[in-house]
Amino acid sequence: MSRVWNFSAGPAALPEEVLRQAAAEMLDWHGAGMGVMEMSHRGEAFTAIAAQAEADLRELLAVPTNYRILFMQGGAIALNAIIPMNLIGDKGVADYVVTGSWSTKSLKEARKYGEAHLAASAEPSGFTSVPPMAAWRLSHDPAYLFVCTNETIGGVEYPFEPDLAGIGHAEVPVVADMSSHILSRAIDVSKYGLIFAGAQKNIGPAGLTIVIVREDLLGRAMPHCPTVFDFKVLAEHGSMYNTPPTYAIYVAGLVFQWLKRQGGVAAVEASNVAKAKLLYDFLDASDFYENRVDPACRSRMNVPFFLKDEALDAAFLAEATAAGLVQLKGHKSVGGMRASIYNAMPLAGVQALVDFMRDFAARKA
Ligand SMILES: *Cc1c(COP(=O)(O)O)cnc(C)c1O
Repeated sequence: MSRVWNFSAGPAALPEEVLRQAAAEMLDWHGAGMGVMEMSHRGEAFTAIAAQAEADLRELLAVPTNYRILFMQGGAIALNAIIPMNLIGDKGVADYVVTGSWSTKSLKEARKYGEAHLAASAEPSGFTSVPPMAAWRLSHDPAYLFVCTNETIGGVEYPFEPDLAGIGHAEVPVVADMSSHILSRAIDVSKYGLIFAGAQKNIGPAGLTIVIVREDLLGRAMPHCPTVFDFKVLAEHGSMYNTPPTYAIYVAGLVFQWLKRQGGVAAVEASNVAKAKLLYDFLDASDFYENRVDPACRSRMNVPFFLKDEALDAAFLAEATAAGLVQLKGHKSVGGMRASIYNAMPLAGVQALVDFMRDFAARKA
């Protein structure tokens, strides 16, 4: 068996230890005589697996007790509709800060359910930065303010946590799409009304979506919100109103245990800082490659970069793949390359990429 360095933006690489454990438990989980995929979601064994996963996530992110954790389906894109259906309420207006492809999509979807007001946009910068909070223009009385704290496609990450108290709007809950950097850095959950993330970037298998929601925001769903997507119903049923994505929850739970063994989010954040520094320092020192994101807003997780001579793109990708460095092609809307270096990518993988890039440049320059 030989595994490659997988720089996919998502579904993305998982820690090898986790895959090995899942494989070892595939046919017989802890003497149950069956695998987790085959278990009733209401049985004792799976109930314990889900409760442990939730408790570990709560511990890793220091989620305060007045927040509920929901295990949902539909991915982050479904949440773009589910969130306004649940939160826009009688106010009928929500504010959006747009910093790239994902938040643009979120804003458009929200318009189906109410008025979505553009509070700030990074479009003038070509989506290479995050507008400072001082430049945000909130509407009169929005139900919430939406941000995407790491734009996976553009490689733009918030260098600050949105704190609306600082701009005189303490009462407005912040809703954050953290799909591609949740658990990669310490956050203060109490600064948000709702945090959500699709699992397949930095948590586990596709099919699971995590929602962390402040309790006072439950119970505001529109009458026509599907019952299965009503946050209050899900919270009341421990995320088991319907059959949850059981296997994805189990693997996410293994990842949470793995994160705890690494020393938790603080330790993983230190490693992520080192990984990102290695790659960005190399890019900045090179006259062969470049990254075009405002240095203050560069993502630690998704690093888009360009070869200054685009004619070499195809050779770069082919040779990288041959060297066991895969999924480096940039998103079609941006072009160039993108290396996604989530929690599961070790420093050795980033070092292998930098070594390859240095060698490629030396041969082609
Ligand atoms: C991947 C991604 C999405 C879309 O997730 P789906 O699971 O495909 O719905 C949304 N937002 C961000 C920030 C993402 O990285």
